[in-house]
Amino acid sequence: MSFVSLGLSEPLLKAVAEQKYTNPYPIQEEAIPAILKGHDLLGIAKTGSGKTAGFVLPILERLQRRKTADNGRVSVLVLVPTRELAVQVAEVFQALGAYLPRKVKTLAVFGGVSINPQMIALRGVEIVVATPGRLLDLVASNALSLFNLDVLVLDEADKMLELGFADEMNQIFEMVPKKRQTLLFSATLKDSIQDIREHLLHNPIKIEIADELQNLDLIKQVAYRIDPERKGPLLRYLIREKKMRQVLVFVSSTRTADNLVVKLRKNGIQVEAIHGDKSQGARTETLRKFKAGTLPVMVATDLISRGIDIERLPYVVNYELPRSPKDYVHRIGRTGRAEAEGEAISLITPDDEHHFRIIQKKMRKRVELIETEDWSLSGY
Ligand code: AMP
Repeated sequence: MSFVSLGLSEPLLKAVAEQKYTNPYPIQEEAIPAILKGHDLLGIAKTGSGKTAGFVLPILERLQRRKTADNGRVSVLVLVPTRELAVQVAEVFQALGAYLPRKVKTLAVFGGVSINPQMIALRGVEIVVATPGRLLDLVASNALSLFNLDVLVLDEADKMLELGFADEMNQIFEMVPKKRQTLLFSATLKDSIQDIREHLLHNPIKIEIADELQNLDLIKQVAYRIDPERKGPLLRYLIREKKMRQVLVFVSSTRTADNLVVKLRKNGIQVEAIHGDKSQGARTETLRKFKAGTLPVMVATDLISRGIDIERLPYVVNYELPRSPKDYVHRIGRTGRAEAEGEAISLITPDDEHHFRIIQKKMRKRVELIETEDWSLSGY
């Protein structure tokens, strides 16, 4: 199937081609025609499935088809759990809308930065991508109204609930017009999502995309058995030996992240950390450089293991294992995306071995454990 047959117009097809999307992903094949027809949608899919373009393209198409251009009112609201995802989704709207004859203004709004510039920037915006708390603040300040909303998108709804946004979400649901199109995306269909679905969706089309677990075959997984005090040298050795030019290193705490950055820098490795204690500006800038390929090593806590899409990341390292097997899968899912191969490396101390066996059992995959006892890591 091609994008042409999905009913998208020329300017969008041009942007799709420019993004080098040759064929639609399964979720796009189903979601695009359904959204174009005005249906509500329940999409059970994770990041990596192509869900973003799956809702962005038909939303842009419908906005264009409108007879009267109604600039200056918010007609599309996308709610997302994190600031990073807000920026990312807004970028997809901008990239895919680049050639539209009638320009559609999109803005990402999120907390952790001052509100005034966002209030000013909201003028003339038709598509708002927002985290729930900041959106409510902006509504309370009369910087935007949801009165004229046509489309409400909940992206990673399960994650929003997990992060404790339920109250804010309910308040927002009360404010939006009854007559609207609602698109709900979630990685899982647990009870809380069922509740939202019953409450918000009207005869939705349901699309379920296979779990990320099934895409694990694209990822080469290796593990090294290593004593805790030799982890740092081993990581530096691997970065050099494998000539890693883009590697995302996961740790379990902010402190380890900062310590690791200091040690890597001492060894001449260009690296930045991204975690909850960094300012929003620093986080955005680090992620931007890492994505652009100008920052070779980024150390991160699980804050960004979900949802953030970094195209064709060649290497992910678990410097420390996450507690839950699910998080392990999310972390290594940052590599081997969009049909590109990647390598996920885990550093396993004797204390981790039992836990690592549980992870392997849960994901139904065995990972080769390489001995490093005899490796001389001196000089690293
Ligand atoms: P998402 O699940 O929306 O975060 O998208 C995952 C990745 O797939 C992003 O890097 C997109 O740019 C990419 N992508 C989305 N649709 C396609 C497509 N049809 N062909 C190739 N890549 C795509």
